[in-house]
Amino acid sequence: MIDLSQNVQFVKGVGPNRAALLNSLGIYTLGDLITYFPREYEDRSKVKKIAELTPGEEVTIEATVTSEVILKKIRKNMTLLKATVEDNTGMCTLTWFNQTYVKQQIKRGQTYRFFGKVEKNLTQTEMRSPIYDEIGQQKNTGKIMPIYPSTYKLSQTAIRQAVENSLKMVGSKIEETLPDYLLSEYHLEDLETSLQKIHFPNSDGERIQARKRLVFEELLSMQLALLELKEQTKVEEGIGYSKDVKMSDVINQLPFKLTKAQLRVLEEIDKDMESKKAMNRLLQGDVGSGKTVVAMIAAYKAVKSGYQAAVMAPTAILATQHLEEFQKILEPMGIKCALLLGATKKKEREEILEGLANGTIQVLIGTHALITDKVIFHKLGLVVTDEQHRFGVRQRAAISAKGVNPDVLVMTATPIPRTLALILYGDLDISIIDELPPNRKKIETFAVSKRMEERVNNFICKNIDEGRQIYVVCPLVEEKEDEEVDEQKADLKAVKEWTEKYQKEIFPNYRVECVYGKMKPSEKDKVMEQFKNGEIDILVSTTVIEVGVNVPNASVMVIENSERFGLAQLHQLRGRVGRGEYQSYCILKYDSHCSQVGRERMKTMQETNDGFVIAEKDLELRGTGEFFGTKQHGLPDFKIANLFVDMPMLKSVQSVALKIEAEDKGLKLEKNKRLCKLVNNRLKQNVAL
Ligand code: ADP
Ligand code: MG
Repeated sequence: MIDLSQNVQFVKGVGPNRAALLNSLGIYTLGDLITYFPREYEDRSKVKKIAELTPGEEVTIEATVTSEVILKKIRKNMTLLKATVEDNTGMCTLTWFNQTYVKQQIKRGQTYRFFGKVEKNLTQTEMRSPIYDEIGQQKNTGKIMPIYPSTYKLSQTAIRQAVENSLKMVGSKIEETLPDYLLSEYHLEDLETSLQKIHFPNSDGERIQARKRLVFEELLSMQLALLELKEQTKVEEGIGYSKDVKMSDVINQLPFKLTKAQLRVLEEIDKDMESKKAMNRLLQGDVGSGKTVVAMIAAYKAVKSGYQAAVMAPTAILATQHLEEFQKILEPMGIKCALLLGATKKKEREEILEGLANGTIQVLIGTHALITDKVIFHKLGLVVTDEQHRFGVRQRAAISAKGVNPDVLVMTATPIPRTLALILYGDLDISIIDELPPNRKKIETFAVSKRMEERVNNFICKNIDEGRQIYVVCPLVEEKEDEEVDEQKADLKAVKEWTEKYQKEIFPNYRVECVYGKMKPSEKDKVMEQFKNGEIDILVSTTVIEVGVNVPNASVMVIENSERFGLAQLHQLRGRVGRGEYQSYCILKYDSHCSQVGRERMKTMQETNDGFVIAEKDLELRGTGEFFGTKQHGLPDFKIANLFVDMPMLKSVQSVALKIEAEDKGLKLEKNKRLCKLVNNRLKQNVAL
């Protein structure tokens, strides 16, 4: 058996330089490399006649060179190579830029296979920068080519070669990961074949068959791992909180009436808390649906029953905001709340830690700082995590470990269709707040093209003059097509460019500031604080930093190049306005070259403010092949499965997982030995499942 954990450097043709580049793609081991799956494929196997070519398509032609390759200097540092080729149906011009070596390789009178994108006008057919092979060769054409996610420093050919060599190295020495009985029952291919075919398929059929097996494996291991986690949390005896502590006592102190949805969810939580079983509940609710107050009421119940509560938020700003909200209601009721951040000063920190240890501080709110070893509770009974993206299972476990089987409430603003949530969050019970507090003004949403820029700017002026504030969100700068950008760098560039434009060109008379990912946290907080205090009119950022703060005075959200954002993301961004008494607006600027799916997304945004409707639509649109990655969704990251495309598979895999579990809890049977290993590996990874 081969050791897949060995360094990728041991693969033939991978030296230290290339290894470093592969590392930057997250490939460190042999195993990483063979499971670095293609992003898409280019079918260069079908040869077309020149007369049949249509503009825009990418195809292979077989043609003879009928001219010399002419080399022209068109600018400093820019040479153009040109050649004419013919088959028995027509003529085509080939052009290359700066690829002078082509002149040595392509010979007049010889026939080659060329693959490239077709451009066509009335008088001529052209192919730009085609790749080519001599007839009989199959290096670059004549087959289905895998295209990998890459950086510009690492060419497709280099990755392809590395993958090819790694597969040769592994050969039949790879250990099968699925039990034989599953392979035959579900007509799945063995691992070795699947890996070979997913990278280098000879036909679409082969690729589909290979993908099926790999997706099955990935989804099954996730489902089994979730069941295992659920099992682990279930067996533990938790805290039964006092039935004499009434949530209604704090509810009566609130300055507003809770919505029906909030009350229903609180009832579910109350029941969990009073039961001896440890609570493991996911609370889903759209931005602004009022999750914080629910957490606060749960904290009240825990504290008045003699326990402490911890609330973990993803950013310092959000944690601070939570503290203010908690203090307003809970302190008058005799409950002491404190805030612990990474930046909390030593003296204050020590006081807090002491108060926690002796129980005088009853509610601790903070960031990841809560997980550190020094934080010791007197009697922690409730853990709340407010998650933009899911904290890893391990992180949640780390904070829970500070109590004895405390109740856990996970809050998320990511609306996931219920069907999907039930499957993905199999380790948690689910509550949903599906209603916004009353009297919320609907956020008016407009999609506008570049032509209307001036009107938009006038509109922004009008709002600022009325005393309101504006968010501007811009997308990351895409340096080159096909290039995975360094997020932080692209973020900085994008923000700088847009901020400058707004500061100097469009709104020289207003106070424009920016926040970006690389900023020091203290500076970031300072700018956010200023925005909160109304000292800044326009705040520019990308989505790299989350500005999920509550600024009720901000009434306009402008999203530049909104066609480049996913639906869920647009919805999250929009949720930053409409938090106060003012009519709020979301302006989606788009490029007129925007795709059909892009237009659909904007249409949906204009039609509805309901996060769950948007999530369903997102699912549907993604099914059509649009893919944004799952990170921004807070959904688990998969190497190959796509939750949108593979929903039917996910459903059937879930029933397979349940069946396996019913028969063999803990995967102890000999026939499930491989599964046991697979699941343990999955659980070892410190990631959200
Ligand atoms: P989210 O679910 O996005 O975390 P928040 O908890 O921040 O939402 O609530 C948004 C705002 O709505 C807060 O200012 C909160 O005080 C207020 N709020 C929450 N519930 C209600 C309600 N039932 N009626 C009126 N306002 C509410
Ligand atoms: Mg919140």
